Amino acid sequence: MAKKLKAYQCRECGRQALISPGYCPNCRSNNSYTSVDVEGKGKIFSYTTVHICEERLQSEVPYLLAVIESENGLRLIGRLSKPWRKPVIIGNQVELIDVKDGTNIFMQIVD
Ligand SMILES: [Zn+2]
Repeated sequence: MAKKLKAYQCRECGRQALISPGYCPNCRSNNSYTSVDVEGKGKIFSYTTVHICEERLQSEVPYLLAVIESENGLRLIGRLSKPWRKPVIIGNQVELIDVKDGTNIFMQIVD
Protein backbone atom coordinates (compact mmCIF):
# COMPACT_ATOMS: atom_id res chain seq x y z
CA MET A 1 0.00 0.00 0.00
CA ALA A 2 1.34 3.42 -0.96
CA LYS A 3 2.50 5.77 1.75
CA LYS A 4 0.92 9.20 1.97
CA LEU A 5 2.54 12.38 0.71
CA LYS A 6 2.48 15.52 2.81
CA ALA A 7 1.01 18.37 0.78
CA TYR A 8 -0.76 21.68 1.30
CA GLN A 9 -4.20 22.67 0.05
CA CYS A 10 -5.68 26.13 -0.45
CA ARG A 11 -8.62 26.66 1.89
CA GLU A 12 -10.44 28.71 -0.76
CA CYS A 13 -10.04 26.88 -4.09
CA GLY A 14 -8.51 23.53 -3.16
CA ARG A 15 -5.31 23.91 -5.18
CA GLN A 16 -2.54 21.71 -3.81
CA ALA A 17 1.20 22.35 -3.51
CA LEU A 18 4.15 20.53 -2.02
CA ILE A 19 5.48 23.64 -0.29
CA SER A 20 3.14 26.00 1.46
CA PRO A 21 3.18 29.29 -0.47
CA GLY A 22 2.43 32.63 1.17
CA TYR A 23 -0.66 33.02 -0.94
CA CYS A 24 -2.51 30.95 -3.53
CA PRO A 25 -1.25 31.60 -7.09
CA ASN A 26 -4.56 30.27 -8.40
CA CYS A 27 -7.20 32.29 -6.51
CA ARG A 28 -4.88 34.89 -4.88
CA SER A 29 -6.23 34.04 -1.45
CA ASN A 30 -3.88 34.73 1.42
CA ASN A 31 -6.06 32.66 3.71
CA SER A 32 -3.12 30.24 3.69
CA TYR A 33 -2.89 26.59 2.97
CA THR A 34 -3.77 23.72 5.23
CA SER A 35 -1.74 20.54 5.55
CA VAL A 36 -3.21 17.46 3.89
CA ASP A 37 -2.13 13.88 3.19
CA VAL A 38 -2.49 12.73 -0.40
CA GLU A 39 -2.16 9.25 -1.87
CA GLY A 40 1.47 8.50 -2.75
CA LYS A 41 0.66 7.22 -6.22
CA GLY A 42 1.49 8.64 -9.60
CA LYS A 43 3.32 8.09 -12.85
CA ILE A 44 6.83 8.58 -14.14
CA PHE A 45 6.97 12.02 -15.75
CA SER A 46 10.70 11.83 -16.54
CA TYR A 47 13.79 10.05 -15.24
CA THR A 48 17.55 9.75 -15.56
CA THR A 49 20.09 7.11 -14.61
CA VAL A 50 22.63 8.21 -12.02
CA HIS A 51 26.11 6.64 -12.27
CA ILE A 52 28.14 9.15 -10.26
CA CYS A 53 26.87 10.36 -6.90
CA GLU A 54 27.81 11.30 -3.40
CA GLU A 55 29.65 8.68 -1.35
CA ARG A 56 26.75 7.60 0.86
CA LEU A 57 24.83 6.35 -2.21
CA GLN A 58 27.77 4.65 -3.99
CA SER A 59 26.41 1.18 -3.22
CA GLU A 60 23.16 2.09 -5.00
CA VAL A 61 24.58 3.13 -8.40
CA PRO A 62 23.38 2.94 -11.01
CA TYR A 63 20.04 4.16 -9.71
CA LEU A 64 17.13 5.94 -11.31
CA LEU A 65 16.17 9.44 -10.28
CA ALA A 66 12.69 10.29 -11.46
CA VAL A 67 10.21 13.14 -11.57
CA ILE A 68 6.91 11.66 -10.45
CA GLU A 69 3.58 13.29 -11.22
CA SER A 70 1.07 12.45 -8.52
CA GLU A 71 -2.56 11.66 -9.30
CA ASN A 72 -3.52 15.25 -8.47
CA GLY A 73 -0.81 16.83 -10.63
CA LEU A 74 1.92 17.48 -8.03
CA ARG A 75 5.42 16.80 -9.33
CA LEU A 76 8.15 15.59 -7.04
CA ILE A 77 11.55 13.96 -7.28
CA GLY A 78 12.36 10.50 -6.00
CA ARG A 79 14.41 7.39 -6.57
CA LEU A 80 12.98 4.25 -8.13
CA SER A 81 13.65 1.28 -5.90
CA LYS A 82 15.31 -1.85 -7.21
CA PRO A 83 14.57 -4.32 -8.60
CA TRP A 84 12.97 -2.34 -11.40
CA ARG A 85 11.00 -5.49 -12.28
CA LYS A 86 9.98 -4.27 -15.72
CA PRO A 87 11.34 -1.77 -18.23
CA VAL A 88 11.17 1.75 -16.88
CA ILE A 89 9.04 3.80 -19.25
CA ILE A 90 7.67 7.30 -18.91
CA GLY A 91 4.03 7.00 -17.91
CA ASN A 92 4.45 3.83 -15.83
CA GLN A 93 2.56 3.84 -12.56
CA VAL A 94 4.50 4.09 -9.30
CA GLU A 95 3.75 4.27 -5.62
CA LEU A 96 5.63 5.78 -2.72
CA ILE A 97 7.00 3.00 -0.53
CA ASP A 98 9.42 4.86 1.76
CA VAL A 99 11.12 8.14 2.58
CA LYS A 100 14.83 7.71 3.41
CA ASP A 101 16.95 10.64 4.55
CA GLY A 102 14.39 12.99 3.02
CA THR A 103 14.38 11.18 -0.33
CA ASN A 104 11.16 9.74 -1.69
CA ILE A 105 11.48 6.10 -2.75
CA PHE A 106 9.04 4.92 -5.37
CA MET A 107 8.37 1.46 -6.76
CA GLN A 108 6.83 0.67 -10.10
CA ILE A 109 3.43 -0.95 -9.92
CA VAL A 110 3.49 -4.24 -11.78
CA ASP A 111 0.12 -5.32 -13.17
ZN1 LIG B 1 -6.63 29.07 -3.96
